Amino acid sequence: MFDNLSQRLEGVWDTVRKDGKLTADNIKTPMREIRRALLEADVSLPVVRQFVKSVEETALGTKVLKGVRPDQQLVKVVNDQLVELMGGQQEDLNDPKDGPQVILMAGLQGVGKTTACGKLALALQKRNKRVLMVATDVYRPAAIDQLVSLGARIKVPVFEMGTDAKPAEIARMGLAKARAEDFDAIIVDTAGRLQIDANMMSELKEVQAMVQPSDTLLVVDAMTGQEAAGLVKAFNEAAEITGAILTKMDGDSRGGAALSVKAVSGKPIKFVGTGEKLEALEPFYPDRIASRILGMGDVLTLVERAEASIKEEDAAEITKRMLSAKFDFNDFLKQYKMVSGMGSMGQIMKMLPGMNQISEKQLNEAEKQFKQFEALINSMTPEERSNPDLLAKTASRRRRIARGAGRVEVDVTNMIGTFGGMRSKMQSLSKMMKMGGGAPGMP
Ligand code: GDP
Repeated sequence: MFDNLSQRLEGVWDTVRKDGKLTADNIKTPMREIRRALLEADVSLPVVRQFVKSVEETALGTKVLKGVRPDQQLVKVVNDQLVELMGGQQEDLNDPKDGPQVILMAGLQGVGKTTACGKLALALQKRNKRVLMVATDVYRPAAIDQLVSLGARIKVPVFEMGTDAKPAEIARMGLAKARAEDFDAIIVDTAGRLQIDANMMSELKEVQAMVQPSDTLLVVDAMTGQEAAGLVKAFNEAAEITGAILTKMDGDSRGGAALSVKAVSGKPIKFVGTGEKLEALEPFYPDRIASRILGMGDVLTLVERAEASIKEEDAAEITKRMLSAKFDFNDFLKQYKMVSGMGSMGQIMKMLPGMNQISEKQLNEAEKQFKQFEALINSMTPEERSNPDLLAKTASRRRRIARGAGRVEVDVTNMIGTFGGMRSKMQSLSKMMKMGGGAPGMP
């Protein structure tokens, strides 16, 4: 379904290719093309505007990495923003700690709601869950029959009370049965209508209040483009939902619904229907959809590798200094500054050889301690920093340093102990690596 969009985006990168970097000037043409392509794919205008703006801002704030061309870097920026647009992470069903999962299915007629009930039941069954379906569409006997026959195909029992009971009552009885018989999940099919109306909403809210669903999913049809996104928004405002199922993704829709639902409604698409068969249901993965749209998996891999190798270079540099034989307080401080400038110290430490078994808690402790060390080192003279042994000898120096950092002498003594231990560990690690042929990323 993203074929047209993909084709439209194929040629837009070339204009920035020759330049060494991304500039306000050279991204103008690609931005215009991207805007047009998204509008043609039936993404709503406010969403397109916001998207283009955030791509522009990110692209201009992004340095083109070594070994990567500007057009490739731009592809990566657009990819990441597309993933964000669609909600970032894949969002699964909520799974309450106690009691069965209760999934309430809503949607207009003909969108594929009943089929989606069967698909979801099958998917949950594959996760080894015992599922019960509950038919509450009391207006159309055919809808109940349809659910019963779907259930029979996948061997999922269907609870129904004909067309005389009230939907909320049927749902309540269904849930009671599920609890009594230890089902893991129930899927409640509700009545579909031709359009949203007050009756439909109040009935849905009654059922919601009765069974307290862990998920209320609105089923929408991808063929309706940005209208589907508007529908999710309207539904969510009237009766809070937890997400959407987007059906008929196998059809020739232009992709607008998949791209707009999250941005327009704030609610994620949790699953997509990709065919008439009951197996044709997939979790919605924003990253997979984005790379399908861009059709440039290899470029993304290239940029990601470049990003990783930059981090590796930094880590290798830190390692080299740490392992150097003349490891003094200056090195100690520089490394700390470098590490803290790059975000969480934990992440960096984990990249260093031999450091990956350190626990999160230990890392936090280490980070706190480093801050204290930094204050102490800052209150040393240059001579003391480059010659740690001076401190071991003279108590008056230790007292002066402690005072300068607002600490006590024993803090300085402790730091010298830690520093000494670290230095000797570094030195023996260094020897080991020289014998063992070096660590990953080491020269
Ligand atoms: P409901 O009125 O919302 O309950 O809709 P149904 O579940 O009866 O589905 C309406 C039609 O859409 C049926 O012909 C289904 O086979 C078809 N349908 C449902 N989901 C999909 C899908 O993901 N892809 C395709 N191609 N057809 C679907």
